Amino acid sequence: MMEKIKMTTPLVEMDGDEMTRILWKMIKDNLLMPYIDLNTEYYDLGLEHRNETDDKVTMDSAIAAKKYGVAVKCATITPNAARMTEYNLKEMWKSPNGTIRAALDGTVFRAPIVVKGIEPCVKNWEKPITLARHAYGDVYKNTEIKVPGAGKAYLVYENENGEEVKELIHEFKGAGILQGMHNTNKSIESFAKACFNYALDTKQDLWFATKDTISKKYDHTFKDIFQEIYDAEYKDAFEKAGIEYFYTLIDDAVARVMKAKGGFIWACKNYDGDVMSDMVSSAFGSLAMMTSVLVSPDGIYEYEAAHGTVQRHYYKHLKGEETSTNSVATIFAWSGALRKRGELDENKALCDFADALEKATITTIEAGKMTKDLALITSLENVEVLNSEGFIKAIKETLDTLLA
Ligand code: NAP
Ligand code: MG
Repeated sequence: MMEKIKMTTPLVEMDGDEMTRILWKMIKDNLLMPYIDLNTEYYDLGLEHRNETDDKVTMDSAIAAKKYGVAVKCATITPNAARMTEYNLKEMWKSPNGTIRAALDGTVFRAPIVVKGIEPCVKNWEKPITLARHAYGDVYKNTEIKVPGAGKAYLVYENENGEEVKELIHEFKGAGILQGMHNTNKSIESFAKACFNYALDTKQDLWFATKDTISKKYDHTFKDIFQEIYDAEYKDAFEKAGIEYFYTLIDDAVARVMKAKGGFIWACKNYDGDVMSDMVSSAFGSLAMMTSVLVSPDGIYEYEAAHGTVQRHYYKHLKGEETSTNSVATIFAWSGALRKRGELDENKALCDFADALEKATITTIEAGKMTKDLALITSLENVEVLNSEGFIKAIKETLDTLLA
């Protein structure tokens, strides 16, 4: 029997809900605990426990992430009206992802997991494209008015002394619409730093694009802040790492992305990131084949799956029916977190294990053993469709061969 890998610093473990909570346990039992002396600080973000603790557990888990630097999170329910009755909730608790994102002030990076047999629709995409989405402000924190009829609309700013800057937006001749939005230099700076750090960390070029030719103050400020921070703090490190930062117009970026080979990070403003991440992830296959990590400007990492709790499968599971839920994104959340913990602690055995776990997962799929969602889109023949647990057991078999 191989000796188990030791961990010096605990990993912050955030458990979650429904089908992903079931997968979480299966992954720990089959793919982690037999190999690692798993050292985690456990936070149960399952909805029942969030409700019992008045959601204090979510904030506690974010504080722990700040303390230790690396967390791994299971998908969680964001309550809505239906969940209020289903779980007999005291309050409609906020999205845990929102709470954690606000506490860590992070940027979310999402990249597809590339596997032979699950080809992207865009034929020239050979390597993954990582999307970095700014998760604050713009149209997501807007103020809107439906203009009923003729009149003048102004943009007004009043400073603390009551002095005003006032610009005419439009003189309406009839009905119309208005929208006001904002961002802050602080948030844009955090976004820029998270992107530069992530590019260095993963040794990939960084692309950034906005519409600064049209939006000469708003979007231009994003462009300027990125450039200033790059020149002052990152230029040398980028040159040393042999990677590039480049800025272009958003329409040019879209055209280039479609022709590119992949293997770079595409930083997007909030709205562009929302839309483009859905485009990139569906072109690459499925949300269950995406890695997702929240990176804070001071270097805290929280790894998660990009999909939800797969509620429909969970209800089947509760009825005793067989499920074929894809655990790849959740496995990669664990491997990503373990590798990062290993890097920070200079624990090579832990990093090597994370590599082996990812390799075993990919090799298993490439050998034709997969869950139903992938079987429906694969170009491989002679596919064996496995149930949720069967797939994890098949990965364990591959992993044992790899480690032997
Ligand atoms: P979902 O969990 O992402 O699932 C939507 C559908 O996508 C599933 O019914 C399934 O399709 C397919 N799917 C997603 N992940 C899959 C996987 N790993 N393997 C196989 N198929 C997969 O979204 P939802 O059902 O709309 O949301 C459920 C709950 O998740 C909600 O309460 C929501 O608040 C929460 N949520 C959490 C997060 C997060 O914590 N990061 C993110 C999004 C949503 P078929 O049914 O056709 O097989
Ligand atoms: Mg979206």
